[in-house]
Amino acid sequence: MNGKIYLMGAGPGDPELITLKAVRILQAAEVILVDDLVNPLLLRHASADARIMAVGKRGGCKSTPQAFIHKQMIQAARAGKDVVRLKGGDPFMFGRGGEEMEAMHRAGIAVEVVSGVTAGIAAPASVGVPVTHRNYAPGVTFVTGHSQDGKRVNWAALVASLTTLVIYMGVKTLPDIVAQLLAAGMSPHMSALAVQNGTLSEQRQVLATLETLHSAMIEKHIGSPAIVVIGEVADLAGIGMTSAADIETFAHVA
Ligand code: SAH
Repeated sequence: MNGKIYLMGAGPGDPELITLKAVRILQAAEVILVDDLVNPLLLRHASADARIMAVGKRGGCKSTPQAFIHKQMIQAARAGKDVVRLKGGDPFMFGRGGEEMEAMHRAGIAVEVVSGVTAGIAAPASVGVPVTHRNYAPGVTFVTGHSQDGKRVNWAALVASLTTLVIYMGVKTLPDIVAQLLAAGMSPHMSALAVQNGTLSEQRQVLATLETLHSAMIEKHIGSPAIVVIGEVADLAGIGMTSAADIETFAHVA
């Protein structure tokens, strides 16, 4: 009998932002393959004899090839092991969870998805920013700043949508994204927020405008991993926080 693969979300960083279901399954897992945005503290839920493998892949760094990860998952499941594939945030939000599910399907291995709290909602929320708010935006668009050739983001269409933009993996490409949003007619004074290491004790954030965000991030040394939020909802930063003084505002920097 093959084991089962759990494509599991570890949440955005705060070790309490994992689901009860994820913890229960982690406790019983025999093999755990862990991405590098997963808080290592979560592994305290693993059993002492679980085999834990780090298979992280950070942009620009040495990374484990996706085919190797698939192979490890298939081998362990075929050996009858129950396998947790633990990913930061939610496994189906820019986490290659979909690709892994397809690969397991091709190999005839059962997959169960265990949803997690995604950074694109939790990082803004940690500074009091709701990604939707009916007075400010009719919806939200989750988008990558790092798109594949052939699947490029149509930034002009996103400007026209009036939705809040929540950008994952957008630190390196931010100047280009901003240029495209401006070219499509978005106001240079549109509110823009970056949150690095959201929900972790190392969290840093800066509230600026579309035209000032990039320089504000450089000035405050805010880099990857960060979520960028562009839209009027960003102005709510601080309201829902216990210590609003932690927000750095660059909204009026020309
Ligand atoms: N599956 C993950 C996203 C993986 S893509 C999720 O649902 O959250 C990796 C990107 O997620 C990073 O480049 C960054 O943009 C974002 N990210 C992940 N954790 C983050 C955190 N704690 N704070 C800010 N951004 C984070």
